[in-house]
Amino acid sequence: MEDEEGPEYGKPDFVLLDQLTMEDFMKNLQLRFEKGRIYTYIGEVLVSVNPYQELPLYGPETIAKYQGRELYERPPHLYAVANAAYKAMKRRSRDTCIVISGESGAGKTEASKYIMQYIAAVTNPSQRAEVERVKDVLLKSTCVLEAFGNARTNRNHNSSRFGKYMDINFDFKGDPVGGHIHSYLLEKSRVLKQHVGERNFHAFYQLLRGSDDQVLQGLHLERNPAVYNFTRQGAGLNMGVHNALDSDEKCHQAVMEAMRIIGFSPKEVESIHRILAAILHLGNIEFVEMEENGPQKGGLAVAEEALVDYVAELTATPKDLVLRTLLARTVASGGRELIEKGHTVAEASYARDACAKAVYQRLFEWVVDRINDVMEPRGRDPRRDGKDTVIGVLDIYGFEVFPVNSFEQFCINYCNEKLQQLFIQLILKQEQEEYEREGIAWQSIEYFNNATIVELVERPHRGILAVLDEACSTAGPITDRIFLQTLDTHHRHHPHYSSRQLCPTDKTMEFGRDFRIKHYAGDVTYSVEGFIDKNRDSLFQDFKRLLYNSADPTLRSMWPDGQQDITEVTKRPLTAGTLFKNSMVALVENLASKEPFYVRCIKPNEDKVAGRFDEAHCRHQVAYLGLLENVRVRRAGFASRQPYPRFLLRYKMTCEYTWPNHLLSSDREAVSALLEQHGLQGDVAFGHSKLFIRSPRTLVTLEQSRARL
Ligand code: ATP
Ligand code: MG
Repeated sequence: MEDEEGPEYGKPDFVLLDQLTMEDFMKNLQLRFEKGRIYTYIGEVLVSVNPYQELPLYGPETIAKYQGRELYERPPHLYAVANAAYKAMKRRSRDTCIVISGESGAGKTEASKYIMQYIAAVTNPSQRAEVERVKDVLLKSTCVLEAFGNARTNRNHNSSRFGKYMDINFDFKGDPVGGHIHSYLLEKSRVLKQHVGERNFHAFYQLLRGSDDQVLQGLHLERNPAVYNFTRQGAGLNMGVHNALDSDEKCHQAVMEAMRIIGFSPKEVESIHRILAAILHLGNIEFVEMEENGPQKGGLAVAEEALVDYVAELTATPKDLVLRTLLARTVASGGRELIEKGHTVAEASYARDACAKAVYQRLFEWVVDRINDVMEPRGRDPRRDGKDTVIGVLDIYGFEVFPVNSFEQFCINYCNEKLQQLFIQLILKQEQEEYEREGIAWQSIEYFNNATIVELVERPHRGILAVLDEACSTAGPITDRIFLQTLDTHHRHHPHYSSRQLCPTDKTMEFGRDFRIKHYAGDVTYSVEGFIDKNRDSLFQDFKRLLYNSADPTLRSMWPDGQQDITEVTKRPLTAGTLFKNSMVALVENLASKEPFYVRCIKPNEDKVAGRFDEAHCRHQVAYLGLLENVRVRRAGFASRQPYPRFLLRYKMTCEYTWPNHLLSSDREAVSALLEQHGLQGDVAFGHSKLFIRSPRTLVTLEQSRARL
């Protein structure tokens, strides 16, 4: 126990607090943070506060300190959690997962990187080549995914704009032999628009700033991102991940190197660059109405034809077809007859944007798939082969509340409801299972069950997503407003739903535009504007067909659905909301089948400054992450449980029968003697292998008598 720290560093586990109030919780969190102790436990859950500065916490010597140890043997750390997950996986062949949550900028992605780094450091002592390759790909994949999926936002300079779940497969030796990444809901609207101070995805700036002149010329690009509509908004133009002007350039090199190591071919990398360039050119295309009595008789034209040339060249598609696809769409009229219907300026602009978003999304998904190909455990299907065990790492967006919240926030917050539900269930389930395993009587614990909110969103037929889908499939003009009215009818009595229509006096909502959900984490008002459009998420078949017919095999492979003719496209594709719901249901099922470990990340202040603990801001996060509730659940049954040997190691010096070594028949007997001497035997239960301590008081008494020596 040479690493144990004194009381001046606060309690390393919130379960040990004398009293459990929000005040005490916050005091302990702040005290530890200010002393550089950014990690604290709640039982086996790790609470982490972003230090916003490099702390000497992650070197090889620290890794060595945690390797193979038990969770409580060392001060709280991510490495301890990574190690616990790894040990459970290796010793007991249990699939485990580490769920990392918290708001934007709280440190989730950094945490996931440290976990991977730990796993890479402690595995493959025999340096097997294939395992080294897999580890390289695992580590390098982050860099590539960040380039395509992260962006500078006002909350975080390197914000993940997608959810990520990564499985790492281990063989019977405990070495990583493969992996698989699932991505969730990329924020593709960012391709078109960015708020002031924000940027598009890093990849665009990296390409512009990091490529040499010749490459840019080949792509018909200028170096300056201010030339392109899609990259010039926001004031954050010049700022990359680390705020330095040259960081885009450096990142470009790093990403190119990472892609090479992962196994992207030079041709594939070229295709990626051409696709990015095509998107930038597409964004600059504008449409003009031709004069009524001019040669084109009021048709539509592209303002700058050269841009169409570029797009055609870069996507390896015929120019006249690109032009036609931009200006008109094919519709099936009546039977199988096809007619071409010209766009208005607004329609053409809308279609262009939809195309740009979709091309980027497919590119992102293709990159993920490509990495997955390379990480697929060689020669067998990991899902069928019983020998592999898995550690999953989930780094997914936290609860979001903006001044105006749209479909994206709705999905993200629904995802958080699902994960919170799982969290509560699993924590309770785990407790219950442990009591049963140890032969201890179980009493059930009261907690807030958010199932009713989850139901409000996902229930068949009446849930918000179902109502939205129905609105999307209705022929004829259906508006967001009508969708809102239907919601009001269905949910007027729901305790977690309201709208201005239902609460006419509540001026914080706008009539005909807003609805509000009382989430477990707080109230969020959503504006229905754009809900139908974003949920439908449609792209004219003409674009799909165009890209499917590209002569570039990489681009072509991203558009298999372009094969169909318009007359064959009868089945409506699943909506964005339904796809997201299905992926969440699958994710939760997957997580529930594994032994979970939790990392709850907290952002200490809004300004990204080192060492500043903004109490109110942190308190809010503690509240909505349900941390206090978590401690309560943990303490409701037993505040603490410890294997007998570990208990003795810590307290044997407080009792004459056990110091320096006991002579009793078992550790359990010895613990019993020790507790009796302290008069504490009434507050504990003896499990098969562990001691269960009911109240934190008992621990405090023991700690005090230890400190007195
Ligand atoms: P988002 O939801 O926006 O993706 P996030 O929770 O993934 O946010 P990160 O990108 O992990 O947040 O962290 C934001 C920034 O905070 C990092 O770029 C880094 O500067 C800093 N940071 C996070 N964790 C640590 C840490 N353990 N040590 C030092 N700095 C950190
Ligand atoms: Mg992130």
